[in-house]
Formats: sequence, structure tokens, C-alpha cells
Amino acid sequence: MITRTIATCQTEDWQNQLSTAFTSVNSLLEHLQIPKSQYPEWIQAEKDFPLRVPRAFVNKMSKGDINDPLLKQVLPLPLETLDIDGYVEDPLQELTANPIKGLLHKYRSRVLVILGSACAIHCRYCFRRHFPYQDNGISTKEMSLIIDYVGQNTDINEVILSGGDPLVTNNTRLSRLIKALEQIPHLRRIRFHTRTPVVIPERIDKEFIDILSQTRLQVLMVLHCNHAHEIDDLFTNAMAQLKNAGVTLLNQSVLLKGINDTPEALIELSESLFTAHILPYYLHLLDPVAGASHFDVNESIGKSLITTLLSALPGYLVPKLVREEAHRTSKTPISILTEESSQSCN
Ligand code: SF4
Repeated sequence: MITRTIATCQTEDWQNQLSTAFTSVNSLLEHLQIPKSQYPEWIQAEKDFPLRVPRAFVNKMSKGDINDPLLKQVLPLPLETLDIDGYVEDPLQELTANPIKGLLHKYRSRVLVILGSACAIHCRYCFRRHFPYQDNGISTKEMSLIIDYVGQNTDINEVILSGGDPLVTNNTRLSRLIKALEQIPHLRRIRFHTRTPVVIPERIDKEFIDILSQTRLQVLMVLHCNHAHEIDDLFTNAMAQLKNAGVTLLNQSVLLKGINDTPEALIELSESLFTAHILPYYLHLLDPVAGASHFDVNESIGKSLITTLLSALPGYLVPKLVREEAHRTSKTPISILTEESSQSCN
């Protein structure tokens, strides 16, 4: 019988949750009461990209269900070791846009800072699963170089904090960085790209809220939820605190085969996001990263899904279908037939 574990409302220090995450397939399967006989050989895939899942995220999975949509995002599979034509280690060729260590300058008005090398969770489809994070972790001195770079480039009005995951960084370091950035007059916004609050909602603690409330910069947070089951009360409460602190909340998802590639799953995701004060922003087609080909949903199915969403939801709940392409100065929107598009203006 399949049962869903109810997430508790007890809070636990986020750093403790980071350090007690599941890091072994065996212990995760045992906890979820899934017999190992249901699961094929995974060892090489786990070696190539280790398993990491915080307990709060595991608590949202259904026990006994090998096909749980949250479990499928984190479970290493033998399919990952296949060598598939067109799937490469650096599909977006980000390393060529890396002018100084820890900084990617792909877009004219904004830069992306790789704040740390770690993530709270390891997502099997991640386009940065082969990124050499160990070469891009930044020291205090290197952070000063990044701040100088932003200060000298007056075209830059927004800094995107990414990683790894920027919210694995502690509040003291974040506060120091934000204070330095707000001294740069042409800088208007700071944006966090993060999945940590989805997998450890306690990360949105009072100290962090205070830091965001006090800065002159406009703050955006782009969350990364792929399925409605990721949104529970604890997460919704954390989002409410951010909203009350004036943070704009958006979401980007990846369209993933067997996880969210049905109209029902995407409609439920958009509705749940809005209940949690978040607007759906992007629905990404999978980046062709080596090891993730089994998650791919082709473009025509993506277009058809968006067409269905346009007839089922108000326009503000329909994410933009996009693809990231190497050397493009923005994400590439995937156009939907004009006839259907006109239905979104309601
Ligand atoms: S949290 Fe984001 S960066 Fe980290 S593994 Fe998942 S998708 Fe990749």
C-alpha cells in the first residue's frame, strides 16, 4: 500500500538538515520501504554524481512507490551511464563565458555569480552536474574581484546569485555580499536562483528575512519546483514570509519525462505555486547534458502541453516554454501557434 508521509510543522535548524541528508541509495530505499529487488543496478551512476536528498524533501515522497515523481528526480539510474549522441558535459558552454573565477557574464545587463559549490539536493537532470565547481568556489579575495567587475561594468543592473545553490551559503557571508553590492550605484536588483527552500523550507530563517528586508536592492527569488507534491505547508509559510519582506517570487521548472509531462501535473503545479504566492515563470526544455537523456520530453509535446495550459488556466499561471542555447544572449522562447496564444490574454 502506498502512503504519504505528512510533513511535520516542527522546525529544525537548516544546517542540521543539510548535514543529515540522505547520501546513500540503500538507506533512502530502506526508509521509503522500497524493496531493492524493484530497483536495477545503480552503482556507477551514483559514483558519477552522488545521491543527496534532505529529509524534508524525502518526507514529501510516497512510501513504497518507486515511481514517486519526487523520488525519480533524485534516484541514480543505470540509464545515466549511457553514451547518447548530442548529450554532452557542458551543453550551454558556460565555461567560455567565465571571465573571472566564480562569475558568468552571458547576458548584457546581468551577471551570474557562482557563490558556492554545493547544493542541498542533487537533481539527476541538472545541466551543471559536470560543472567543475571545485575550480569555481570563491574566496573572500575573489569575491572582491567580482564586486570590482560589477562596479566597473555600468551595463550590469542585476546580479544573479547561483551555484551550486546560493542559499547553502550562510547568512553572514550573504549579508556581507549584499552590503557590498548595494554600494554599486548602477545595480538595481539581486536575484537568487535556488532550490534550497523547496527541499529545506527552514532555510528561510528570521536572520535571512532581516537581511533581505534591509537592503535597498530589489530582491527576486526564482524557486525551482517541478511538481505540486513539492509544495507543502512549511514551504508555503516560508514563501509568505519572503513575500511579506517584499521579495518577488517566481518559479522555473524543467519539463521532465515521467514526472511533470502531463497537463494534469502542470496545471496542479501552477495552481499550487500560486497558492504559495509564487508565479510560474519558465518551463525549460531539458538541456542535453550527459546522463540525463531519459528525462527528455520533445519540443512538440512541450508546445502541446502549453497549448492545453492556455485553455485551462489564466495567462498569469502559464509558464513560458523556453530552451537555453549556448552563446545566445537570452533564453530562447518556444513559440506556440498564434491562434492558441491569443487565448492567454485573459
Ligand atoms: S539544486 Fe539546481 S543546481 Fe543543484 S543539482 Fe538541483 S538543479 Fe542542479
